[in-house]
Amino acid sequence: MGNMKPILGIIGGGQLGSMLCHAAKKLDIYTIILTDDPDAPAQNFCNDFICTNYSNKSEVEKFAHSCNFITFEFENIPFEILQEISNIKQVRPDPKINKIVQNRFSEKNFINSLGISTTEFAFIKTKNDIEKNKELLPGILKTCLLGYDGKGQSVINTMEDIKKELPLSGDFILEKFVNLKQEISVIITRFQNGECSIYEPIENIHKEQILRSSTIPANISKELFNQAHNIAKIISEKLQYIGTMCVEYFIDYNNKLYVNEIAPRVHNSGHLTINAFNVSQFENHIRAVCNLDNIPLQKKSNAQMINIIGADIANYRKKKLKNEEFFFDYMKKEIKSKRKMGHITTLISKQ
Ligand code: ADP
Ligand code: MG
Repeated sequence: MGNMKPILGIIGGGQLGSMLCHAAKKLDIYTIILTDDPDAPAQNFCNDFICTNYSNKSEVEKFAHSCNFITFEFENIPFEILQEISNIKQVRPDPKINKIVQNRFSEKNFINSLGISTTEFAFIKTKNDIEKNKELLPGILKTCLLGYDGKGQSVINTMEDIKKELPLSGDFILEKFVNLKQEISVIITRFQNGECSIYEPIENIHKEQILRSSTIPANISKELFNQAHNIAKIISEKLQYIGTMCVEYFIDYNNKLYVNEIAPRVHNSGHLTINAFNVSQFENHIRAVCNLDNIPLQKKSNAQMINIIGADIANYRKKKLKNEEFFFDYMKKEIKSKRKMGHITTLISKQ
């Protein structure tokens, strides 16, 4: 590796890793992906690809030593591994943040400790715990760890439902079901000098707990806009966050805002920033992690992003794109139903 470019290590090799690599190229930064998935799509976009079990100490240490900067693209890397890597080379954002937000119970307690609302919830280990918290029904039972795209979640409408087999092994939370008017997210990048760069709220539509579309501008009041921005700033400041993160929100029919969850990484709802802004969430993440300048954000256009899920990808691979359409194929080896295979962003004139 006889080049003089800064070397950025990225742990995780999914589509978010691919898009980070793409942004790094623009900044003339060399990328190394570390993953345990031999089919990881980011291998098509990075400069160097290390595929190893995360428990392989010597490989992981070698990776840490060869990078100038290290970050991650998914939050479910075991905390101990991140900690081990950060003993060799600083990992940004700090793995301690990961420890708080990768567990839904500690994440919600942290948010509430800042005086910010979440849905009502309770810690659950057994069916008896559900019985004790039946005022939370109808609700959603969620694993504390490792859930994504609705995986590890079950809807519980009444106490009748818990007579059925429930996947109760490990730690869970039961969350009260919110009658959702809207869902929005805020993407924010915090730099090493404490400055923040914040994108306007994005309106999201989920189906079967998977994100289907993200749109700017969000159809919300100025008041909710400001509230969502302020909460994201408070959270990133409190966490002393470095890099891009996302705060997902629920809005109910009383226009009350709740934080749903924090993603300590670039986020699916922010993909439209690639085409709609001068600096994307990915470029901003790299700028913050590698301590480059914070460039003021300029919005170029309104936009809508649609996730392409499962076999539908075949239609888009054949599609003739219009000038305002930008198609991203994640180049995943296997097509699976309910799996995000790509996305398409359409720019919509601001008029
Ligand atoms: P994941 O980690 O899989 O993204 P989330 O907790 O964000 O899990 O849930 C995914 C989606 O499921 C949410 O964006 C929302 O549409 C729906 N959902 C989750 N929890 C609730 C809830 N308490 N009330 C209503 N809808 C919910
Ligand atoms: Mg979510």
